[in-house]
Amino acid sequence: MDDRQFRQAMGNFATGVTVITTEIDGQEHGMTANAFMSVSLDPKLVVISIGEKAQMLEKIKKSKKFAVNILADTQQEYSMLFAGQIKEERKVNFETLAGLPVLPGAIAQVACEVVNEHVEGDHTLFIGKVLDIKVEEKDPLMFFRGKYRSLLPELSFINK
Ligand code: FAD
Ligand code: NAD
Repeated sequence: MDDRQFRQAMGNFATGVTVITTEIDGQEHGMTANAFMSVSLDPKLVVISIGEKAQMLEKIKKSKKFAVNILADTQQEYSMLFAGQIKEERKVNFETLAGLPVLPGAIAQVACEVVNEHVEGDHTLFIGKVLDIKVEEKDPLMFFRGKYRSLLPELSFINK
């Protein structure tokens, strides 16, 4: 089985889009991620999966904290920026939640401390214990078959 076939199969799993954020030495860092899952209600745990080549990996290992920002359908630009799909530098004004940088306008901001990490293949899974949450009533940005989508039919049409 080749990489393309694996990615094509996994791309059929429609997801939301998050930006993982953390801070190290007073410097904020963000990375787009769709490998995110709720794990446990008691205690409240989530998991993220970070590739071995991502700058984010060492930063979370050091900070031991991260926030998950679930993007609204108006925030595709943030997803592209934090995935390196927009090449020019942009100034981002972060908010703070539980001492972590978070993105304004996200439909959910989830601040976590790392309670466990597991290296699996070329990714590291970080288990985060939830410290604080902020939620807004908005529609989500979605990712399906390698393209950004929206729950709104007219936006899905534009992205095709
Ligand atoms: P960099 O490549 O250095 O940074 C990413 C970008 O964010 C750069 O353009 C940088 O300028 C910008 N940036 C970072 N911090 C700031 C800041 N403070 N202010 C302004 N700009 C900033 N990879 C995974 O490992 N796991 C996943 O689950 C995952 N899911 C993805 C889902 C989607 C939909 C997409 C498009 C990509 C996904 N990726 C995932 C790939 C990942 O987003 C990219 O490989 C990313 O470039 C890796 O980021 P990095 O930490 O190496 O940082
Ligand atoms: P794509 O077609 O590469 O992604 C489709 C699906 O394949 C993703 O949703 C994910 O489930 C899986 N996938 C892709 N790359 C992976 C990887 N390196 N490790 C584990 N699973 C992976 O979508 P695209 O628009 O070409 O993606 C843009 C870039 O973002 C690519 O470089 C891709 O590798 C990367 N990406 C990485 C992950 C990840 O590391 N978990 C997830 C999504 C996208």
